Amino acid sequence: MPRVNGTASGMSGGQSTPLEYPWGKPPSPGEVTEVAPGILWARIPLPFRLNHVNVWLIEEDDGWTVIDTGCATPEIYRLWDGLFAGPMGGRKVTRVVATHGHVDHIGLTGWMVERFDSDFVGTFTEWMWARISHTHDVPRSDSAHRAYLLRNGFAPADAEELVRNRAEFMDLATPLPGFLTEIRDGDRIRLGSREWQVIVTGGHAHEHASFYDPDSGILIAGDHLLPKISPVIAVYEMLPKADPLGDYLSSFAQFDGVADGTLILPSHGSPYIGIRERIAQLGEHHRERLEATAKFLAEPSTGLELSKKMFPKIEGVANIGFALGETLAHINHLVHLGVVADVSGEPGISRYKTKA
Ligand SMILES: [Zn+2]
Repeated sequence: MPRVNGTASGMSGGQSTPLEYPWGKPPSPGEVTEVAPGILWARIPLPFRLNHVNVWLIEEDDGWTVIDTGCATPEIYRLWDGLFAGPMGGRKVTRVVATHGHVDHIGLTGWMVERFDSDFVGTFTEWMWARISHTHDVPRSDSAHRAYLLRNGFAPADAEELVRNRAEFMDLATPLPGFLTEIRDGDRIRLGSREWQVIVTGGHAHEHASFYDPDSGILIAGDHLLPKISPVIAVYEMLPKADPLGDYLSSFAQFDGVADGTLILPSHGSPYIGIRERIAQLGEHHRERLEATAKFLAEPSTGLELSKKMFPKIEGVANIGFALGETLAHINHLVHLGVVADVSGEPGISRYKTKA
């Protein structure tokens, strides 16, 4: 989704062993790189600050499985047409898999499934989340979004702008398929010539799916473990009291069984090796941000006030909106840990303070 736009994503420290990147440069738009026999890497340019998403094309006997699709812009439709006719040899897409429901991953899924009469595979929660989030005029959605922004300190005019922005992003998704082949954590699924273990994690999305094949040593990691940027871990208006950072940090243990030398195929950036190092870096990044949050909140602050301190270089209402989600993820985690409390006492506004 556009919230994964990189603007509010912290770079995480890289003091430990550097990651290894087997490919020097990504495939150009419309071209593919074979990352393992029968698995092609294509890069889809995005209209956001985070300017691309990787998709994976897995060769099947009767066509292709496509993992993630990008979003609906004229350029991306054209690019897919070129991939279908070129590297994919005019063979049909028999199955589309969604790692999760953010618009840069699932935006063209409905279009592709309808075009090829493909199967659609994903987790139930991400499918439902996407059907709600990328649809205009879902009752009570705008009012909940507005109340959430006001509660966190936005002025009414800025809150209106953010509610309007969100509506614009909805046009980047085609209507989601009306059916789903559901996958759950621990399932096994055959994609191409390999059998993959499904790893469903919270944090970046509610039920994000990764796919691990221990025999070939490959993990299709979606947005959950990105190499260069920290995946956006954010609170949104639908679940304002959630603790996605707690979910994210506890998800790392789900990858304990992934072998050290595994090739990680991420949705942004380049394939890499070094899962242990990367998980350590991501954990360290969030520990630093939690410390900074607790320190700043010695002085009672709204979510918006703290966002400006945590992201001092960010400008523009839209970007501050993204920063708010990430700031609240750190606040809510500290609230869940009992370190921070909402001390506002006024209806309709929250002010957080670190407990003495
Ligand atoms: Zn995402």
